[in-house]
Amino acid sequence: MPRWRALRSRLTRDIAVDLGTATTLVHVRGRGIVVREPSVVALDRVTGQVLAVGEQAKEMLGRTPPNIEAIRPLKDGVIADFDVAEQMLRHFIHRVHQRRAFAQPAVVIGIPSGVTEVERRAVRDATLRAGAREALLIAEPMAAAIGAGLPVSSARGSMVVDIGGGTSEVAVIALNGVVAGRSVRVAGDEVDEAIVNYMHYEFDLAIGIRTAERIKLAIGSAYPLDEEERVTIARGRDLVSGLPKSVEVSESQIREGIVQPLRGIVEAIRATLEETPAELSADVMDQGIVLTGGGALLRGLDRMIAEEVQMPVRAAEDPVSCVVIGAGRALEQIEQLADAFEPF
Ligand code: ADP
Ligand code: MG
Repeated sequence: MPRWRALRSRLTRDIAVDLGTATTLVHVRGRGIVVREPSVVALDRVTGQVLAVGEQAKEMLGRTPPNIEAIRPLKDGVIADFDVAEQMLRHFIHRVHQRRAFAQPAVVIGIPSGVTEVERRAVRDATLRAGAREALLIAEPMAAAIGAGLPVSSARGSMVVDIGGGTSEVAVIALNGVVAGRSVRVAGDEVDEAIVNYMHYEFDLAIGIRTAERIKLAIGSAYPLDEEERVTIARGRDLVSGLPKSVEVSESQIREGIVQPLRGIVEAIRATLEETPAELSADVMDQGIVLTGGGALLRGLDRMIAEEVQMPVRAAEDPVSCVVIGAGRALEQIEQLADAFEPF
């Protein structure tokens, strides 16, 4: 593959970007992960000027004054707003090459496996306009598998489940390719929405999506692991009186509230296993399923999935970083992993 070789020699300041719906990560070769921030941009509604990006902009979500708009440019795993996504990319790439040497980097971007040709081209164009010299694409589950240390080049099948904010991607990988897979729009955000609904119907309490996520992070779980139940206080508005109200909610209540979206993820795993060639599913059975993405941090999720599909399941180490680390590693080993990239 001469094109890759030619490229290889010029890839001196490789940058890998995981443009996630929830988190954007940037990895620079030799320096590690240099950006890990929410994928949020705050814009001036009138001028369209970028006011804040990342953590600072996320703080503004849901509480912005009328002249400021906080946007998550990626929704359900795809770029919903290309202009804003490009501005965000540009911001992060520029932040990285404050050091001169990083000007005009080669950039590899992880993209959801379900994106269309048109979307792929748009991501590549946005990356080039954002200041990249070269833009390569890699499917997120492939990158996640590499980042989690799975033997993607081997003939043996590995299964990775990347649970992000907007999408969960299930993939069986062998010989540097995705053999079977699913991308479903059920992931962390749906879990948060389920908590909003649960608080609404069980407690007559209106809460925002950010509060729901906080509750999830504080006491969320997919499986009863401890005898002792954790509890937290949820603050919101009483749907009857319209006044502020606080209620105590327990771990098992929240678990009940989020059953539905978690089932959606299990179903995607089942469906993928069903269409996996028998030999490869035997490999997956031996090796187990590896969970990546922020959703993999939900307590007891590995255990719950293991019981449902009757296979060993474990969360990767540092699951949120797997995609960006894998994308970076793929660039470093571009000759061995050439097939792992998306075609031009
Ligand atoms: P994306 O790839 O879409 O940017 P991430 O891989 O960053 O998504 O995962 C984000 C999701 O992970 C969010 O829904 C977030 O709430 C969830 N998450 C992060 N940490 C935890 C945790 N400790 N427990 C449960 N969910 C978590
Ligand atoms: Mg992701």
